[in-house]
Amino acid sequence: MRRKAVAAALAVGVVLSFLPVYQSQAWWSNGHRLMTTEAIKLIPDPEWRQFFEHYAYFLNETCVWPDSIYKAEDPMEEPRHYYDLEIPPEKRTYRDGVLPQAVHNYTMAMVEALKRGDWFEALALAGRVAHYVEDAHQPYHATVNYNPMDKHGLADSLVEKHWSELTLDLSASIEPIDNLTQFAFEIIVDSNQKVARLNATLIGDPNDPSDDREWSDDLRDLISEQASRAIVAVARVWWTAITLAGVEPPDLSQSYSISVDLAAPDRAKTRLLAEATVLDGLEIPLDAEVTWTFGQDSGEARRADVGLYKIRIDSEVLQKYAGQTVTLTVKATKEGYGTAEASAQVYVEPLEIPTPQPSGPSLELKWVALIAIVVVAAVVVILLLRRR
Ligand SMILES: [Zn+2]
Repeated sequence: MRRKAVAAALAVGVVLSFLPVYQSQAWWSNGHRLMTTEAIKLIPDPEWRQFFEHYAYFLNETCVWPDSIYKAEDPMEEPRHYYDLEIPPEKRTYRDGVLPQAVHNYTMAMVEALKRGDWFEALALAGRVAHYVEDAHQPYHATVNYNPMDKHGLADSLVEKHWSELTLDLSASIEPIDNLTQFAFEIIVDSNQKVARLNATLIGDPNDPSDDREWSDDLRDLISEQASRAIVAVARVWWTAITLAGVEPPDLSQSYSISVDLAAPDRAKTRLLAEATVLDGLEIPLDAEVTWTFGQDSGEARRADVGLYKIRIDSEVLQKYAGQTVTLTVKATKEGYGTAEASAQVYVEPLEIPTPQPSGPSLELKWVALIAIVVVAAVVVILLLRRR
């Protein structure tokens, strides 16, 4: 069941990855990935740090799922990414932002997943809370004036675009957090206080459209500070979840096995589309070399996302097997993990044989033409007779 859910989640992601980048995705995808990867290094416990490092490739996907998958799946998702601080508590609605509550709720869900030993869910939630915590450090995610002079998108891009120029200070100690909602709320307050500074560095003189300051020393300092604070905050939130769960990380040696799940239709005619999900021994999506065979034919599957592969067999190959039931087999191989196979039976429907068209006009058409000629001739004769 869970594999199906993984495949479904990944499939949505794949579809969305073809859509143009939506500008209000804070910190862009790589900004989130870069900060999340840094946060892993700050986890105090060496064994847990090793677990997160082992799955850094997967966290790099799950930390962008809130933008790439959840927003499309759930109309309630968007307000989890911001908090309009200026709206007073008595007037607030869900649409004014619920970021601090989301940090609390999904961190607590991560605690439960860790306790259950559901490592897929734990890593999905670790990525999810990392995303919200990182968004909280984008000042425009903490204010009603979230898009001054249309600069929101530009601010979102800064971590990704200028990562190598940032000076990170990650010296803060990684302590568990007592009150996660309050913790996230305090981040929002701090970010909100930086809106004016961000405006001033990004916009310059608002009355002068040519005073465009896309990047500056002050902006570099501000973004360095926000990225550093975000990385430390993510590590602290994760560490809080780990501490509250009070469990040991899984034995990573169990991860080094491979399984593949194949979803294929039972019939195909002009095109066969199938999907293979590759998982490791702890049921975490894994990239591998994935090939397929279909009767005497074979090919390579196309990677669509982490652990998700697409198989496409076109009519030309398919119709060689018209009227037969053929075995489609996928084989996934990864060094250190081994090899796995899955198969499905597919009946190839023959294409309709087109009925040969008679070379000349059909009999019916001939009669219509004949009648038309007779009618025209009759009209001409009547007209000629009238003239006289
Ligand atoms: Zn976001």
